[in-house]
Amino acid sequence: MIALQKEKIADYNAWLNNTKDQLNEHFENYLHKKKKDWITQANREKIQSFLFATSFGKCAYCERKPNDGGGYLEIEHIVPKSKNKNLVFSFENLLPSCKQCNTIKGNKDSNGILNPYNEKSFKVHLELDFQTMKISGLSENGKKTIDILNLSLNAKDFRLDEKYFKGAIHYRVKIKEDIDKALIIKKKHKENQTIDCLFDEIVALLERIDVKSANTSTYATYLLNNQTFNELIDFVKSKDEGKFLEIDKLLKEKSKYSIAIKFK
Ligand SMILES: [Zn+2]
Repeated sequence: MIALQKEKIADYNAWLNNTKDQLNEHFENYLHKKKKDWITQANREKIQSFLFATSFGKCAYCERKPNDGGGYLEIEHIVPKSKNKNLVFSFENLLPSCKQCNTIKGNKDSNGILNPYNEKSFKVHLELDFQTMKISGLSENGKKTIDILNLSLNAKDFRLDEKYFKGAIHYRVKIKEDIDKALIIKKKHKENQTIDCLFDEIVALLERIDVKSANTSTYATYLLNNQTFNELIDFVKSKDEGKFLEIDKLLKEKSKYSIAIKFK
């Protein structure tokens, strides 16, 4: 889960102003069982287009994209439609959610559950276990969120990311070994080439922590807290201060996506 901004809210409200009579009439008919669905397909797609633009096409809870295993994206109501009909079309009450999160959450009381639009950082709320790659709650709100969404937040897909990063970091350890060899030979041009190569690799890994990609917080948390990865950065720091400063700038930028970590 990462912090998101509802920058489309003014556009949405302008659209809602023109459409609300039609939306409300349809919804009343749905409540009286004269309509099968709470919204027409065209209006559903319109609301989805506003919502999904704010989350880069990801589920706001588990950060998966439709083809990452969460099923197609749906409109999730924080206060369920059945509990308060005045909030059914309020942008403040809507979240882009995958089918799995939406289904798991269902009509449960969501009061106190984490909302990506209201939080600046999730470090105080959630933590990632490095052994199991499972997310658990730290704060009361974090615990409540995990209680309700555990099955989707801890879906198997996250293990794939762990595999990717383990493989990637082992590859980088090999580069470090190459660097060590280069140091033994002490041929300066070779050493420089290796530092350049290592720098490119570190930057490429950091750039993968992208707000538009699935599982941004899992990637960020795993990579930024990985001991080997940090050792590689320390190595660059000891050899090339300028290159380190470039990496450090990226580290600071990307660390906002990280949640807390739990070591056993
Ligand atoms: Zn989800």
